[in-house]
Amino acid sequence: MITGSCHCGAVQIAVAEAPAVVTSCNCSICRRLGTLCAYYRPAEVTVTHAPGALASNIWGDRCIAFCRCATCGCFTHWEDIRPEPADRMGVNARMLDIDLATVPVKFVDGASFPVSTGEKR
Ligand SMILES: [Zn+2]
Repeated sequence: MITGSCHCGAVQIAVAEAPAVVTSCNCSICRRLGTLCAYYRPAEVTVTHAPGALASNIWGDRCIAFCRCATCGCFTHWEDIRPEPADRMGVNARMLDIDLATVPVKFVDGASFPVSTGEKR
């Protein structure tokens, strides 16, 4: 079990195991957030917070909700919000209490294909 939280601690995250690899994506939102995403099945992730402590933004083709702490603004994870979601979610590995220097980074060219946002880049 690996745990972590946003900066202020209002949003707690626990994942089954440390990521073997994290993803750096250059799509329009990931590059701005500077996230390093680790992918898990939702059943492997526990996100704990008080009611109202989590904010999210959803746009484009409304596939994914990008969730952040409503207090400190740290991007914590994304969720597939389609009616029939894939068995996958993304956790911002920068929130986890691990040594990210030891985890390989996979660079994904999300800017070159319209994955989820549907917006112009
Ligand atoms: Zn916070």
